[in-house]
Amino acid sequence: MDAEDAEDAEDAVGLAGMDAQVVVVGAGPVGLLLAGELRLGGAHVVVLERRTAPITESRASTLHARTMEIFDQRGLLGPLGVPARETRGHFGGVPLDFGRLDSRYPGLWKVLQVRTEALLGQWATGLGADVRRGHELTALTERAGHVEAEAVGPEGTVRLRARYVVGCDGEDSTVRRLAGFGFPGSDASRELLRADVAGIDIPDRRFQRFADGLAVAARRADGVTRVMVHEFAGRPEVRTGAPAFAETAAAWARVTGEDISQGTPLWSNAFGNACRQADRYRKNRVLLAGDAAHRQMPVGGQALNLGLQDAMNLGWKLAAHVSGRAPAGLLDTYHQERHAVGARTLADITAQAAILLGGPEVDGLRAVFEELIAVDRAAVHLTGKISGLDTRYGGGPGDDPRLGARLPLHDLETARGPLNAAEPLRSGQGLLLCLCKDGVPDPWPRSTAAPWADRVRTVTAAPVPDGALSGAENVLVRPDGHIAWVDGDADGLRAALGRWFGAPAGV
Ligand SMILES: Cc1cc2nc3c(=O)[nH]c(=O)nc-3n(C[C@H](O)[C@H](O)[C@H](O)COP(=O)(O)OP(=O)(O)OC[C@H]3O[C@@H](n4cnc5c(N)ncnc54)[C@H](O)[C@@H]3O)c2cc1C
Repeated sequence: MDAEDAEDAEDAVGLAGMDAQVVVVGAGPVGLLLAGELRLGGAHVVVLERRTAPITESRASTLHARTMEIFDQRGLLGPLGVPARETRGHFGGVPLDFGRLDSRYPGLWKVLQVRTEALLGQWATGLGADVRRGHELTALTERAGHVEAEAVGPEGTVRLRARYVVGCDGEDSTVRRLAGFGFPGSDASRELLRADVAGIDIPDRRFQRFADGLAVAARRADGVTRVMVHEFAGRPEVRTGAPAFAETAAAWARVTGEDISQGTPLWSNAFGNACRQADRYRKNRVLLAGDAAHRQMPVGGQALNLGLQDAMNLGWKLAAHVSGRAPAGLLDTYHQERHAVGARTLADITAQAAILLGGPEVDGLRAVFEELIAVDRAAVHLTGKISGLDTRYGGGPGDDPRLGARLPLHDLETARGPLNAAEPLRSGQGLLLCLCKDGVPDPWPRSTAAPWADRVRTVTAAPVPDGALSGAENVLVRPDGHIAWVDGDADGLRAALGRWFGAPAGV
């Protein structure tokens, strides 16, 4: 047993002299989803956010299929409404069709980050998360059995004692620095300038390559055009703020020959291909999620979606841990599962950056890529990866390919009528799905799971004819929607319940 395990074993349960069981630093999308997940799992959570009001600027605008499924699993799609959907995405600028993804939500869903944050903020506070705006974390001290977080707020310095602190405070994370996480990787070697501009009339361009650079232009319904430009020979500037629009307009003119300098800039921004990942996602009582854990070029909407999926993986585990229900080692599966997914995604983004931002020297590589993407299996592989649908966690004993994969959100046939498989997950509990052939379920799965009934809901439905669940009779699903066990005997089910949900009640 190492020091972390020993601390875990001794962890006190409940508030027990703490101001919060968990302090989340950062009320961006990742911090807010995590706060909601922690509340759903019964943890007491305080969120410290240095901004006094939510962002209003344009940032990420795409939710991928897996994020839409996650939102469905938490009942968040109703309040979101039906967002605009696109099917055409890309890999490093090479077109890729996301319309054929095997999901209830195939495609790229256009939701501005401000909307996503508002939705998650309402949800988290509605569940009882205590979000304190205008509070900037300035110090972090680990003590025996807890962490002390110091923040400067409207009423001066406040100190909060918490069992755990999670840094969801973005790419320049203070938590990461204060807690001394390693953050290896590379700085940006290339830069893109972008701006949202009113009052210009230029052709839409989708990753159009010119002799000296790359240009993107997309006119929105409100008449505002987002332009993005990269000069192949350019190198990143050392910046202390956003670039002046004149700089972007000048680069645009050099690359495309068009003059947009008379437009009205509404937002300007520069970003590069920096790529770094925290060496660990947990260090004793401090954890990282979202951009705080990984810095990547925001291409193809992967940055935001990757972070939201970190939060979904961590929330139920940390809530179970601080509530004293978690089996040994559960919290550490967060690093094991999400660091691997993060590393894979960063590698993917690095490859995209190379073929997107490289000059004529990558023309051959792009041509080969275009050929490969035209092969159906290659396109399915890449869209599965980028959308997050093919994320599979080490599922435990057995080699069933469904273990660790996500539960497909089929409409299930139940005695009470059709049921979206996402619905039973909305409470944040686990799910035992009994798919009985003749309408009469085997009694043993339900009776085996009975001692976990406070944590795992059992639903009986007809067998699913097609897709990944066809042929399956009993499926155990974690609160984040990933499959923990498929078919087998009562001993196997009992072991899986113990592994993910802890000891049975009364033990
Ligand atoms: C300018 C910009 C443009 C982007 N454009 C795109 C895009 O086009 N496409 C795309 O996919 N992604 C884009 N991204 C990335 C995307 O916005 C992030 O991946 C996403 O916001 C990550 O969410 P997060 O919650 O991890 O971090 P953030 O959204 O960065 O949230 C972190 C929060 O922590 C708070 N905070 C920071 N330090 C402290 C502290 N010491 N104390 C208290 N609070 C603190 C911040 O105020 C912030 O609210 C962009 C990011 C930026 C910054």
